[in-house]
Amino acid sequence: MSGKWNDLPFSVLSVPVEDGHRRTVVRFVCSTCEAKEEYGVGTKVIPEMIVKQATRNGWRVSLNSTKATCPKCVRERKKSAPGESPKTLLLAPKPMENPAPMATTPTPFTRPVQMTAPKPPMAAPPTQGTPKPTVIEPLGVKDRIRVRGFIMEHFDEERGCWKKGWNDTKVAIEATVEVQHVTEMREAAFGPIRTTEEAELARDNIAKLKQQMQDQITLLVSDTDLKIGNLRTLMNTRIAEIEKLLASVEKAA
Ligand SMILES: [Zn+2]
Repeated sequence: MSGKWNDLPFSVLSVPVEDGHRRTVVRFVCSTCEAKEEYGVGTKVIPEMIVKQATRNGWRVSLNSTKATCPKCVRERKKSAPGESPKTLLLAPKPMENPAPMATTPTPFTRPVQMTAPKPPMAAPPTQGTPKPTVIEPLGVKDRIRVRGFIMEHFDEERGCWKKGWNDTKVAIEATVEVQHVTEMREAAFGPIRTTEEAELARDNIAKLKQQMQDQITLLVSDTDLKIGNLRTLMNTRIAEIEKLLASVEKAA
C-alpha cells in the first residue's frame, strides 16, 4: 500500500503567501512543453480529486504515471494524430496497466502531504537577492507598525531623546529591520534626537543645585552686605562651573 502513490502526475508544494503563512499547492508540469499549472489544496491531498480537476481543465493525466500533458499539447497531439479518438487520449493512459486496485479500494485516498518540494518554487523569496548597500527596500505595513511601536514606547518625543538603553540601532535589531528605516521613521514622525537621557538627568540635577544655591543667596541677603558680596561671588563661580559641566555633558550626548 505504501508504494501506491509513488507515481503521481503532480508534485505537492508548500508555498509562502502573504503575512508569513504558507499554503499547500499541487503543481502539474507538462512533460512536453513544461507549462505549469497549480491548484491550491487543503491540508489533505486527495490525488483522485486533483487529477479529476486537472482533467476537467484539459490536462491529460493519470494517477499511475508521472507524465502530464497540458491542454495545449493535448490539442496539438490531437491535430497531428487525427486517427485517435479524443476519448482514448483523455481516458486511457496505459492500456496494459492493471486498474483493479483503484476500483476495489473504498478507503479515502489521502496521504500525508509532502512538504519538501521536488523542484525549486517558481518565485524565489526576495530576501535572497544580491545585497544592495545603498538602496533599501521600503518597509511593509507590518514592519512599520512594529518599528513605530518600539519608537512610541522608548522614544521621549517631548524631550527628543531615547530612553535609557535605547537607540535607533537597538530598535533595528529588535524589529529586524535596517537602522536606516528606524532613523527615517523616527525623524519623520517623532523628530530628531536633541539630547540623551543621561544629559537630561544631569540637567535636572544641575537645575536643582542651581536653585538651592540661589535660595541660599536669597537667605544670605538678609545677613551682612560683606558676607553677601563674598558669597555671591563664590556661588556665581560655582554656578559657572556647573554650567560648564552641563555644556560638556550636552556636547558628549
Ligand atoms: Zn504542454
